Order: sequence, then structure tokens, then C-alpha cells
Amino acid sequence: MSGTAEEYLRAAQFLREKDDFLLMTHIHPDGDALGSTLGLAAVLAKIGKRCTVVHEEAMPRRFSFLPGIDRVHSVAECDRRFRTAVSLDCADRERIGTAVELLDEGAELLNIDHHATNDRFGSLNLVDVGASATCQIVCELARLLGVPLAGDVAVCLYTGLFTDTGGFRYGNTTSAVHRLAAEMIDLGLNPYPIADRAVEMLTLTQVRLLAGALAELRTGAGGLVAYIPVSFRLLQETGASVEDTQELVNYARNLEGVEVGLMFREEEPGRVKVSLRSKYTVDVSKIAARFGGGGHLRAAGCTVEGSLDRVVQRVLDAVEEEVGRG
Ligand code: 5GP
Ligand code: MN
Repeated sequence: MSGTAEEYLRAAQFLREKDDFLLMTHIHPDGDALGSTLGLAAVLAKIGKRCTVVHEEAMPRRFSFLPGIDRVHSVAECDRRFRTAVSLDCADRERIGTAVELLDEGAELLNIDHHATNDRFGSLNLVDVGASATCQIVCELARLLGVPLAGDVAVCLYTGLFTDTGGFRYGNTTSAVHRLAAEMIDLGLNPYPIADRAVEMLTLTQVRLLAGALAELRTGAGGLVAYIPVSFRLLQETGASVEDTQELVNYARNLEGVEVGLMFREEEPGRVKVSLRSKYTVDVSKIAARFGGGGHLRAAGCTVEGSLDRVVQRVLDAVEEEVGRG
């Protein structure tokens, strides 16, 4: 049996034997983070286990359709500690944010993730880098626990499969992902409302931000690199939130001939969040790691101190070095 297969069995056993779980995911959660966390919460409910989902931030509006999202507690309002916990879609302990402070000393923590950069920070680890989404790992756990991929479980887990594969378009769109989606649809899942709410729907604020951001798009490295700087001022003028900026990087990556697309978001003067995406050859997780971040081969991120212009220059230099190698 491979190491990962054994990790699946151990994780399922942990969930079967323990009770009263604290469930946590990464800060600025995306569809896979929330889908896998709320999906596991729904699976645990089906086998009669208690769990509490805690997160330090308000939930993104885009995912308000996810079953159970209205029962996510803020760290501040949680006045107790937990002895058993699960983190989902977090590559390292820091990504969990302040929710991790709700763990009792000596608490057991199951780390479920699919990032190649995962540092196995749990007391128990289920890290499957072959999985296209953390939701895919939770689908397998559901199977091991005898819970069908139907109803609320399916809505949550389909969401992460859909968003982490870019709507079944990216290179991580495997036959296994399609089989799981097919199984869910066979069991009654309606796919369009999920695609609409999770990805396609835009607010007026998002469209205004998009217009402002696209006006700033630039190219480099003879057209192999495209990037969009998003200034703090543009964010303030449009009233856009962090969540509103998440799709912008795709406009840089999707340009004809581009290998690496980047988005630089000035979170506040002096601090810039960088999103990196590549198409075929460049490992952007390596570039992000050089700046203290991480992620996957084709999607990674980091946060860099410095002015917007300076961070753009530093990261572009690193990207151009990597593109030159490819
Ligand atoms: P995004 O650009 O959408 O924020 O992130 C893309 C991918 O990179 C995500 O899968 C996320 O896990 C990873 N990522 C983004 N920011 C960071 C970071 O600061 N540290 C680490 N380790 N990974 C990140
Ligand atoms: Mn993920």
C-alpha cells in the first residue's frame, strides 16, 4: 500500500474514532478551501459527529450559497478550546491564521491538503499532491466513511472540484475529477447554479475594478509575461474587496503568447500581495517560494513588503529569470 493510501485510512479512522472537531481552512478562503471544509462538516454530520467551523474573517459573499456557511463562527466569538481539529487546504500552519489559537495544548490536528509545498505540520497528515483539489480528498474520505456524494455534501465538494480546476479546464482536470462530478450529478446535483454563483456572477463593483485594472495591464519578457498592478487607490476608489480581485490575474495569464501572468495587489501602502499563474512550462510555486510564499506549479502567491513599483520590479526580475530558463 502506498504511503498516501495509508494516510487516507488513518485519517478516516481518526474521523470515525474522535468527536467534537474544530474545522479550519486558510485565510482569504477560495472555493476549494470553503467547499472542502463545509463538505467535511456535512460528511461528519452524516455520521453523527459534532464539529465547529471557525474562521477569522467574514465569509466571502460569493460563497454564501454553500450549505453551512451561515454557521461558520468567528474566532472572536468562540469561547472554548478544542482537543481534536482538522485543517483543510492549508500548506502550512501560518495559512490557518488565528483560528489555530483555539487548539488546546497537545490537541490532535489532522492536516488535509493537496499542495506540493505542504510542510506536514499536523500531528496526523493526509497530503495527497496527486489530488486536483482538497475537495477531491474529502470525496475519498466520504467514500471511506460510507457517506454518498449527494445533497449538501455534493454541493460543497463539487464547488471545490469546479473552482480548483478552473471549471474543469486546467491541466489538473483529471478523469477522476470528472468521474466524481458525474457521480454527484447522477445523485441529483444541479451544476449550473454552482458555476454561476461560484465563478460567473459579477457585481458592478467587480466590473468597475476590472475596467480600472485592465487599463494598467503591461507585458514583459518579449510578451511571455503579463502583469496587472492594482493600487491601493484603485481599490479605495472602486470600493473593491480582496475577494473582488481574485480573478484579475487570469486576464494577464490568458493573453495570447503569455506563459506567466501576475497580479500585484497593494494591500496597504508598503505591502503587496502577488498572484502568479503559468500555462505550460514555468513552476510559479518556486518563484513564490523565493519571496516567502508558495502554492502549486501553475498557481502560486506571496506577500512582499515594499512599494508597489518596487515589488513589481523585484518579482518581474525573478519571473524573467525563470521564463528565460524554460
Ligand atoms: P492566489 O494567488 O489565488 O492567492 O493563490 C494561488 C495559490 O497559491 C493558492 O493555491 C494558494 O494556496 C497559494 N498561495 C497564495 N498565497 C500564498 C502564500 O502567501 N503562501 C503560500 N504558502 N501559498 C500561497
Ligand atoms: Mn485547493
